[in-house]
Amino acid sequence: MRIATTIDEVREQIAQWKAAGRTVGLVPTMGYLHEGHQSLMDAARQACDAVVVSVFVNPIQFGPNEDFDNYPRDLERDAELCEAHGVDLVFHPSADEMYPAGFNTYVTADALAETLCGASRPGHFRGVCTVVTKLFNIVQPDLAFFGQKDAQQLAIVKGMVRDLNLPVRVVGCPIVREDDGLAKSSRNTYLSAAERQAALVLSRAVAAGQRAVEAGERDAHALKRLMLDILESEPLARVDYLEVVDGLTMQPVERIGSAALVALAVYIGSTRLIDNFIFEEPPCC
Ligand code: AMP
Repeated sequence: MRIATTIDEVREQIAQWKAAGRTVGLVPTMGYLHEGHQSLMDAARQACDAVVVSVFVNPIQFGPNEDFDNYPRDLERDAELCEAHGVDLVFHPSADEMYPAGFNTYVTADALAETLCGASRPGHFRGVCTVVTKLFNIVQPDLAFFGQKDAQQLAIVKGMVRDLNLPVRVVGCPIVREDDGLAKSSRNTYLSAAERQAALVLSRAVAAGQRAVEAGERDAHALKRLMLDILESEPLARVDYLEVVDGLTMQPVERIGSAALVALAVYIGSTRLIDNFIFEEPPCC
């Protein structure tokens, strides 16, 4: 496995693979890898001849008061993990390599980026769309793998690929959870023991919401009330948002229809965690 820090190194390797007719899979990450990332790598390994994992804490997707400086980083451990999962190339650029002086061009998404995390984190998806476009241009993957954990990001990236005719297929992968239900996240490392316990309120709310919808609840307001009651019962939790949106447009809905996304962001202490579930109406008989 190779670790590249420059765009030129990556381009050179990709050119060799393309010349040999090998398909390329890309897994974009911010590192501090866990089983959620591993599931993406494994999916890429299954589907592609060569697998590239980018490890880059992208400064432009963080707001001024967010956790860019504190975000956990451990390239050595990440590289070992990548190697163990059959990754061929880790791309670990510096911020200057990606955004040299004079950098002046950004990619933005419109309506899809205005709700949920887009509303709570102004500029976040502009940073995401810009870095993902750059990674697509550098790596030129046939397939790119993203987690359903960041459901709005996945929808936005799919929309961007469609709208800008980017020659890549985006593959969404299911949320990987801890045994007790908490969605795996690099940010879970911020949690104290008490907060780690309190954080279970997210997956408890998600599971209860899922059960309610599966049992026939279609009223978004009632569903949110049920889930909020659970979230608000946890003293260490502060709800940033809980929303029921159309799974394609990311716009709030009143009735839960064929493809709804129920998404939430909750502060546990000062750590902001997200979770979600998608409800797809089973085909009518
Ligand atoms: P991050 O490093 O947090 O930017 O995540 C990189 C990729 O891994 C994104 O596509 C995430 O959606 C995905 N991911 C993060 N956590 C999980 C998880 N628990 N299950 C599945 N995918 C995940």
